[in-house]
Amino acid sequence: MEYYSNQINRLVEELSGLPGIGSKSAQRLAFHILNMPKENVEKLSSAIINARSNVRYCKECFTLTDEEICPICKNTNRNHKVIMVVENTRDLAAYEKTQKFEGVYHVLHGAISPMLGIGPSDIRLKELMQRLQQEVDEVIIATNSSLEGETTAMYISKLIKPTGIKVTRIASGVPVGGDLEYIDEVTLLRALEGRTEL
Ligand code: ZN
Repeated sequence: MEYYSNQINRLVEELSGLPGIGSKSAQRLAFHILNMPKENVEKLSSAIINARSNVRYCKECFTLTDEEICPICKNTNRNHKVIMVVENTRDLAAYEKTQKFEGVYHVLHGAISPMLGIGPSDIRLKELMQRLQQEVDEVIIATNSSLEGETTAMYISKLIKPTGIKVTRIASGVPVGGDLEYIDEVTLLRALEGRTEL
């Protein structure tokens, strides 16, 4: 990397800090950016800065949004009495892409992992329980089928059971350790339709 000037090195370094970007891709991206028209580079950098400063958590479901309440929670045509619990906003997007789920979501932002020292209070569980004080017919737990996802699902179902609200778990057509966002829509739909009561 000593072949490049300091500023190119810095750009490559910053880019290679992003997930999934190795040093080769970072160099490729850096030179691509350097060859872009100046106004396109400005658009890109302002998109990054604006997203970072304006995106926050939805007050209802805690997904990432640039409004106080996200468009899904705002939508009165959706069934607000069915809440699907997912680990992150990317999982929510995966289910949204199927266009078949008419309920709303709750984004935990993580999963319980004793190994990593992530406990129930480190994810948005308390907020979920608060939401359940309103009228809710069903909570669908759609955490990943990894060890952490299963641990979280079990923990949540135990927590909700005493309230009498129906708790279901998506079917495990989803491979173990499978990340929801990489699973195709048909598999996701099947998992949703084949959900079982806990
Ligand atoms: Zn929301």
